[in-house]
Amino acid sequence: MHAIVIGGGIGGLATARGLGRQGWDVTVLERQPDLGQIGAGISLWPNAMRALHHLGIGAAVERAGARVRGGGLRAWHGRWLSRVELAAPAVMLHRADLHEILLDGLPATVRTGHPVTDVGALGDADLVVGADGIGSVVRAAYAPHVRVTDSGQVAWRAMVRAEVDGGGETMGPRGWRFGYAPTGRGTVYWYVAAPGPLRTGTRAEQLAELRAVLAGWHDPVGRLLAATAPEQLLHHPLRELRPVAPMRFGERVALVGDAAHAMTPNLGQGACQALEDAVTLAVLLPKGAAVSSALQVYDQQRRPRTAAVSRRSRQVGRVAGAKGRLTGALARALVRLTPDRMAASAAQRVAAWSPQDVKVPGRAITPAGGRR
Ligand SMILES: Cc1cc2nc3c(=O)[nH]c(=O)nc-3n(C[C@H](O)[C@H](O)[C@H](O)COP(=O)(O)OP(=O)(O)OC[C@H]3O[C@@H](n4cnc5c(N)ncnc54)[C@H](O)[C@@H]3O)c2cc1C
Repeated sequence: MHAIVIGGGIGGLATARGLGRQGWDVTVLERQPDLGQIGAGISLWPNAMRALHHLGIGAAVERAGARVRGGGLRAWHGRWLSRVELAAPAVMLHRADLHEILLDGLPATVRTGHPVTDVGALGDADLVVGADGIGSVVRAAYAPHVRVTDSGQVAWRAMVRAEVDGGGETMGPRGWRFGYAPTGRGTVYWYVAAPGPLRTGTRAEQLAELRAVLAGWHDPVGRLLAATAPEQLLHHPLRELRPVAPMRFGERVALVGDAAHAMTPNLGQGACQALEDAVTLAVLLPKGAAVSSALQVYDQQRRPRTAAVSRRSRQVGRVAGAKGRLTGALARALVRLTPDRMAASAAQRVAAWSPQDVKVPGRAITPAGGRR
């Protein structure tokens, strides 16, 4: 059975790996001339780590990154507002390392420099998976009602050489936030989320703005910004899909990852959800399975979950990014007064997913490699 996966990002490569391990003949079509990832870090929550273990690459990801068990929110002067300890560790690593691990020994043919413009012209594959990101041509063909929405916030991020003790996020005045985490091998990933619009100045000017606005924030904020060179700075609008898209169309077309449910990064769950999608699809589609009915089950299981995570991420962004003097103070008070165990159990609900949760109709299965 032949599957075509459109897009060689995290979602597409994980899908190709999952289907390839189930015996599918998989072709990945990627529009860029080279496969690779931008110079930023990524947090992989325990749900994503279970998906990666299921795909046989969890141990490699753990070796490449840094394990982080706890986190929390601080005010800009350094006082902790909330501290959360996860039941299982998350892993922080460089996106390029994740990409390399996903590609290593990939049981699929990858064709780069191959932009797909017409999904209908792809021939007679048994399965077509749109893993082509927030601007998906596959979604546009089948679900034009789903809109890319601007959250009103923007982000900067960078990877730098530095030493830090743990990580976390800090809420400051006027809706500014700073987060950081070690990513292993003496590197640290940091990000800033702030009210838009997208800045149009040079990177040096943008870095100067960050250093000025965040001056006086607790350590290591100033240290990490000082260690950043302008060319390391990435700047993006924060956008999402509303509503999340259906995840299957007709008899043989499915969506995974941002193509279906691009979400704000406030929970650090976009790629984690793409990995859940990939594993769910693979579990539901062993070689020889009836594709059409498996895709219906896939949509039934994934759409409510990704819609809930996306909604929660938006809510967190509204609270943590509150811009007004009063709303900002109220938001910080809300975080401080919420018991840590409540915050931990909300995080736990998102992070608790396991491949064993995939319900395969007619089978009480424990997927090989799935583990809690
Ligand atoms: C600031 C920020 C921070 C984030 N932090 C985290 C985090 O810490 N943890 C987390 O889990 N998530 C995080 N995310 C979300 C995460 O980056 C995305 O959810 C994830 O990368 C989506 O992967 P994807 O493969 O679905 O899509 P993409 O990464 O967008 O990949 C799509 C691929 O498809 C290719 N493509 C597009 N169109 C075509 C076409 N027509 N033909 C062929 N190929 C095509 C593209 O070139 C690309 O390679 C963050 C997002 C942002 C913006």
